[in-house]
Amino acid sequence: MEKPFPPDSYRACCTLCGRAQTFERRAYAIRETYRCAGCRASLREREQAAALLACHAPPAVVSIAQLVELPSFRNLRIYEPGTSGPFRALMRSLPFYQQSDYLPPERRTNQNPKLPHQDLQSMDFPDQAFNLVLSSDILEHVRHPRRALAEIARVLKPGGRHIFTVPLQHPMAAASVARVDVSTAEDRHLLAPHYHGDGKGGRSLVYTDFGADIADFAAAAGFTTQFHRPATASQTANMVVTLVCMRHPLPARHDSTQGSATAQSQGRTDGTGSATRHQNLA
Ligand SMILES: [Zn+2]
Repeated sequence: MEKPFPPDSYRACCTLCGRAQTFERRAYAIRETYRCAGCRASLREREQAAALLACHAPPAVVSIAQLVELPSFRNLRIYEPGTSGPFRALMRSLPFYQQSDYLPPERRTNQNPKLPHQDLQSMDFPDQAFNLVLSSDILEHVRHPRRALAEIARVLKPGGRHIFTVPLQHPMAAASVARVDVSTAEDRHLLAPHYHGDGKGGRSLVYTDFGADIADFAAAAGFTTQFHRPATASQTANMVVTLVCMRHPLPARHDSTQGSATAQSQGRTDGTGSATRHQNLA
């Protein structure tokens, strides 16, 4: 049975479709409610959109529907793993918008070239292929999230961003909790198995309950992290957290081993830095 929750609402425009309205809390799970009456985007999706607008839109542009019309945005190489969520309908018309599906190799029967299977821990894309990566409640389902962050850093251009959500809200726990021991090929559950819907009628195991130290994991992969929070009239809605990770111009782990800025710059363009980081991470 649904847990009780106090009534709450606030007025704003949807950052996805632009529709002005009153957003109401209609469920216990804060991130999944306050949905748009037009495009059905949840609070976490609308705030991920708000974080994207804060990074890529001039002040007059207040929705993703408007953002995708801007030539400067249309030129970006964007990667959004997965197949669900409200960004896809708006971004599908962009010329350099890449999506991907995921099935384990043994279950991949036919490959759709427009929707390749990609494992975030080991992607097929070349280094620095993208300006922007969007992921929405995916990393908690990845067996080795540090590897995935290193891979996302590898495929991002220097200065590119990974704007993403995981089930985090304010106040955040300090430390992440591994729910599964992944030190061998077999999963060994450390906590009762917890699943989320996979958007395709199935379910997906949660490997990690993230805390604020996700910024440390991101830093190890070469990112600077900002925690984006809403500034609405609702204190409850304002608890939702979106992560904005900017890929360092230079891989952090090489700063101490390479002398000049020129040498560092060359080091990052040959791709070996990313590969080394990848192997070093658990
Ligand atoms: Zn909307």
